[in-house]
Amino acid sequence: MIQCEECRIGLLHQKQITYLDWMGRNAIVVANAPALVCDVCGETQYDLEFLDRMQNLMEATPEESAAALRFTPSPVSKRRWQQL
Ligand SMILES: [Zn+2]
Repeated sequence: MIQCEECRIGLLHQKQITYLDWMGRNAIVVANAPALVCDVCGETQYDLEFLDRMQNLMEATPEESAAALRFTPSPVSKRRWQQL
């Protein structure tokens, strides 16, 4: 267990939370971002690897970012019901 550096009382627990950041006028929202959250003061520390990845995305061109940010599952194929 990792002790919280902010309050020095609580412990940091691994959680998946929603990450929100801004790139220009565009909000970047990543669901289920890995983070450590203090159970006492609520201090949140995102996973360093995750932050690295986000940093790389920020520095990339918008087109590259858009391609890299495809966290959403691929669209479900539309099936048309055949009329009998
Ligand atoms: Zn704390």
